[in-house]
Amino acid sequence: VAKREGGGRARSFERAMGEDVAARQRDQADLRAALTNEELVLHYQPIIDLAEARTTHAEALVRWRHPGRGLLGPDRFIGLAEETGLIVPLGAHVLRSACGQAVRWQRGGHPLGVAVNVSPWQLAGEAFPRQVDELLTTTGLEAGLLTVEVTESVWADEAAMRVLMDVRDLGVRIALDDFGTGYSSLNYLRRYPFDLVKIDKSFTDGLGEDDRTEGVVRCIIDLAAVLGARTVAEGVETPDQARWLRDAGCGYLQGYLFGRPDLPENWHPGLLTDPQRLPST
Ligand code: C2E
Ligand code: MG
Ligand code: MG
Ligand code: MG
Repeated sequence: VAKREGGGRARSFERAMGEDVAARQRDQADLRAALTNEELVLHYQPIIDLAEARTTHAEALVRWRHPGRGLLGPDRFIGLAEETGLIVPLGAHVLRSACGQAVRWQRGGHPLGVAVNVSPWQLAGEAFPRQVDELLTTTGLEAGLLTVEVTESVWADEAAMRVLMDVRDLGVRIALDDFGTGYSSLNYLRRYPFDLVKIDKSFTDGLGEDDRTEGVVRCIIDLAAVLGARTVAEGVETPDQARWLRDAGCGYLQGYLFGRPDLPENWHPGLLTDPQRLPST
């Protein structure tokens, strides 16, 4: 009996695996088609410079306008893109679109910088710095208006770090995304220059709630300052968090308090033109 059950289980496992493989191949083909069918769209979220009390940057966040499944967030397909190598053309498309948007903002009289998330896979090989350089030349975008966001996972790869620093040498700003949630090594922070450190939402959530979190966030802001970097707080949802971060010397704020990621044409016009409402005390 045990043997027959075992065999049955093995067969259903094989069948399940077969379905998995088929589903994966379908998803992969869909994603490939999405790239050519222009189903990938960028939403932008405002980043507020606290010293200027206005929007100075915007982060590009990719979405998949899936013909059958609606609007999919990046957590639904970036993993697949990375596993299949499609992240490279996808990332190139995102970068090109974001630079184009920055140029449109500039021509419209609102020279916002754009921040683009870059996967470690895009930093494999030597091609990336040249692509960025060409893009800056063809679009005429000033290098300082582009920020490349990477997570701490790039630190595992020396070659990728060198590629990243080649990009930085072009004048592009480098941001450490989700700082403190991954493999944070003070040794790497010490060795490589970064322009921005993004304090992860999970820390922002604890402000005003938890002394230990507040202590850690103060240290991140101070550490960044010592290293010549500025800080961006992610996931700011309440005026109390904004006030706390301003008082602690944080450089920029990003979060639903100011605006959700959206198509630029859906942005509240005040986001581009008006000083942002920040806590007055
Ligand atoms: P991330 O770069 O850390 O982006 C911040 C995420 O937090 C975004 O989620 C944003 O919508 C969300 N967020 C911002 N403010 C708030 C807030 O106040 N409250 C809450 N609850 N959430 C907030 P999203 O758009 O789902 O993106 C998730 C992740 O997907 C990004 O995290 C980034 O790592 C990745 N991603 C997005 N676009 C790209 C891309 O073009 N290429 C690559 N490689 N990764 C991307
Ligand atoms: Mg990011
Ligand atoms: Mg982040
Ligand atoms: Mg993240």
